[in-house]
Amino acid sequence: MSEMLENKETLGRFQNVVDRLASACVQSGRKGDAADLIAVSKTYDAAHIRPVLEAGHRAFGENRVQEAKDKWPALKHEYEGVELHLIGPLQTNKVKDALGLFDVIQTLDREKLARAFVKARAQGVSLPSFYVQVNTGCEPQKAGQLPDAVDGFLQMCREECQLNVVGLMCIPPVGESAGPHFDLLTHIAARNGLSQLSMGMSGDFETAAAHGATAVRVGSAIFGQRG
Ligand SMILES: *Cc1c(COP(=O)(O)O)cnc(C)c1O
Repeated sequence: MSEMLENKETLGRFQNVVDRLASACVQSGRKGDAADLIAVSKTYDAAHIRPVLEAGHRAFGENRVQEAKDKWPALKHEYEGVELHLIGPLQTNKVKDALGLFDVIQTLDREKLARAFVKARAQGVSLPSFYVQVNTGCEPQKAGQLPDAVDGFLQMCREECQLNVVGLMCIPPVGESAGPHFDLLTHIAARNGLSQLSMGMSGDFETAAAHGATAVRVGSAIFGQRG
C-alpha cells in the first residue's frame, strides 16, 4: 500500500475512534470529552504515528521502555506537547530510562518499583504522575495489585513514598465481560479518593467510557492489527 493511502486509512480509523468515544460518553450521560484517548502506538514506527500527530493528537501509550526510547525522543522534539504514557510492566533497572521518557506511568504495581522511584527522586530526578495497576481478575500471570491489597499499597505509595498517584488502571481478563472489572476499578478508586480511571482498549473502550473511564488506551483500532 502506498504511504499516502496508509496514512489516510490510519486517520480514518483514528477519527472513527474519536467519534465513537465521544458518543459513548454522551450516551451514558457524561460530557463528550469526559474520557481522554491514549493512542497506543506500540509496535508501530514513526511513519505510522506521524499522521495522528499531524492531526493534532498528543497522548500516546507505549508498553516497552526500549522501544519508546528508540522512537519517541525524535517525535517529541518534532511535535510539541506530546504526553507519553507507560502502559507496560517496568523493571526497576529501567526506571531511570523510563523517567527520562514518560510523562505518566500507568503501571505502578509493586513496592519495589515504588521504592525505586523514591530513590530516583532522592537523586534529583523529578517524578511524573502515576496510576496504580490493579489485577482485577486476580490472574496469576498478570501484573498489578490484587483488589484486596491495593488500598494498603496505595497508602504506602501516597503517604510513605509521597508519589503523585492520580488514578488506577486495569486490563480485564481476556474472554470475560469487562464491565464488572471496570466497575470494580471504579469502586476501588472511589473508596481511595482517586479520580482517574485508565480502562478500555480497542475491543471495549465504549463499555469503559460508559463505566466511567477517564482515559482509554486504544491501539489496533487506530493503527491497524499488529503484525
Ligand atoms: C496493547 C495495549 C493496549 C491497546 O490494545 P489494543 O487492543 O490494540 O487497543 C492497551 N493497554 C495495554 C496495557 C496494552 O498493552
